[in-house]
Amino acid sequence: MLPFHCPILPGEHLLGWVNRLHLLLGYPEIAASLKQLGISNTSFLYCRFNSAICDAISLYRREVKNDSSGFDKHTSLPMLSIGLPFERYAEMRLHNQGGIASEYRQARIACQANWKFCSLCVEEDLASIGHSIWHVKHQLLGITHCVKHSVPLQEDFSLLKDLRRGALPQIHRFPLSDKVNEELLVWSQFCHDMLILLSNDAGKGAKIVARAREFLAIPEITRVKDNSLPIFEILQRRFENEMPNAVLSHLFPMDVEFKSHKVSPIKKVFGFDKFSPDRVHPIYSLALLYWLRNDLALVA
Ligand SMILES: [Zn+2]
Repeated sequence: MLPFHCPILPGEHLLGWVNRLHLLLGYPEIAASLKQLGISNTSFLYCRFNSAICDAISLYRREVKNDSSGFDKHTSLPMLSIGLPFERYAEMRLHNQGGIASEYRQARIACQANWKFCSLCVEEDLASIGHSIWHVKHQLLGITHCVKHSVPLQEDFSLLKDLRRGALPQIHRFPLSDKVNEELLVWSQFCHDMLILLSNDAGKGAKIVARAREFLAIPEITRVKDNSLPIFEILQRRFENEMPNAVLSHLFPMDVEFKSHKVSPIKKVFGFDKFSPDRVHPIYSLALLYWLRNDLALVA
């Protein structure tokens, strides 16, 4: 039992909540707090399913509610369900099995997994509850804007990589110089809507990817060497031509390699990538589903 009352707040990220528990415990070093809470002192990256987040989910089960809502509602991990076979995703969600960090390896994708916040949400939180929180909705891979306020999210590569070194968002004062990018705002809205969809239904991710496969008529073959089929070339060209430039250059900045088809979200998502045929970084699936969002009726 915690020695004080500190409920997790709606929409608050689990690791942000752990950080608030640390502040209340009063130890100068977070290592002491984590030891008392039974949480591994490994990196607090919102995208990692490492021992720290697994322990935080267990803490939530003990202290808040013994169900899967810690995973589903207080992390952005439901996004993983569009990049893993359903059985594997279900196993990690229900049994808190770690060890999938490699899915998130930074390859040719641009988006940094820094902790992000919206200055206007910080102001609203301060006015309503007296302090700011780390919102799950701002910690989605690839997201760039707060969809509530339509402003760019704030982030910092050095200060906000690992939340064990970060305080509440209200401490940070980064210059508000970025202009709203309309294409990235629409993209951010999609990321946000997908999180809501996936966090409400654990089986939805695999079903949507299966629908995408059917829609694109990707053949049901599993040999990776079949990845030179003409259909991939055709779909890749369509994908590149139809995706907004701002989104493509945000997600895949290695333009030359992208154009030479070394980075093919279509091959990756459907298991034709020789390096990881059974799993895919969810940002590739997300990009593909964004491209097909109207065809698959993923947006209202
Ligand atoms: Zn906001």
